[in-house]
Amino acid sequence: MTFCTIDNMPAEFELIAKYFTRPIRAGSSVQLGVGDDCALIAPASDQSLAISSDMLVEGRHFLPDADPSSLGHKALAVNLSDLAAMGAKPLGFTLALALPDADEAWLDAFSRGLFSLAEAEQIELIGGDTTRGPLNICITALGTVPLDTALRRDSARAGHDIWVSGSLGDARLGLEILTNNLLLSDEHQAIALQRLHQPSPRVALGQALRGIASAAIDVSDGLIGDLGHILQRSSVGATIEAACLPISTALGSQHQQTQWEFALSGGDDYELCFCAAPIKKEKVMAAASKAGVTVTRIGKIEATSGLHIVDAAGHKINLRSHSFDHFALS
Ligand code: ADP
Ligand code: MG
Repeated sequence: MTFCTIDNMPAEFELIAKYFTRPIRAGSSVQLGVGDDCALIAPASDQSLAISSDMLVEGRHFLPDADPSSLGHKALAVNLSDLAAMGAKPLGFTLALALPDADEAWLDAFSRGLFSLAEAEQIELIGGDTTRGPLNICITALGTVPLDTALRRDSARAGHDIWVSGSLGDARLGLEILTNNLLLSDEHQAIALQRLHQPSPRVALGQALRGIASAAIDVSDGLIGDLGHILQRSSVGATIEAACLPISTALGSQHQQTQWEFALSGGDDYELCFCAAPIKKEKVMAAASKAGVTVTRIGKIEATSGLHIVDAAGHKINLRSHSFDHFALS
């Protein structure tokens, strides 16, 4: 695409060269990165390529005044989270960017946020597209996973335990701070906003769970909705024990109903929700400790369809909201 030159502003190719071109790491299976008509990748013959795209749209996924460095981090993090949920190892990504103008301070901060996560997770920017338009960031991430070992949504079985990594509902709490002026202590506010702006994709955990988890998904739209995808694809149901949900100290400062609602229905957590046979419990714990992430058992898969949420006494809990649906009427 062509990004027309306007007075004193670098054109498309200069922007790409300055902000989005980095050398490819030695040993990567990326043979050719940014600068040609296509990138070239030569994955090993015993690997599947895992491919996922996610788009961040201003006003829908982030607020108009969002910090560009956090946006760079988050745009890549949400894609890495999808790779994690398949048990894939990050390889490369493309970046399709629509920008209202060539704001160099914005591009500098955005690319710094993007590359600091890319370098930490050893994933290469291999190409993309840059054009003028309302701010829109679309990343396609590629990863590799040994043949037939990917963590899919369709293989949860009755009796399997349901687990989640980290804690749930913090990003939703962060959104409440920004949009409804919820007041928290400085410490709790920092936790919630960090989770909202700079989520940590569970890349190491996803790979460590290969051969252990029977099914997995990342929690992007809220636990109920996302677990619902596993249930639907696997033709099973589930019971979740609300008292077992992992809640951070920040969300723990809120009313019980808010804790459950945010943990069960809040989006943007980017934790992994996965299933495993009870006999795999020790292996799940070992995988989590190897990945440096906490995991919590929150319920179990049932043979009959339906998702039930119960309190500590086993009574069903009803919730107002379910999962974040971009096309829901509100
Ligand atoms: P073409 O016109 O052949 O599609 P472009 O002019 O769009 O190529 O892009 C030139 C090169 O820069 C390509 O290698 C493309 O992948 C890369 N590129 C364009 N935009 C970006 C971006 N935002 N980040 C990384 N690489 C990019
Ligand atoms: Mg192009």
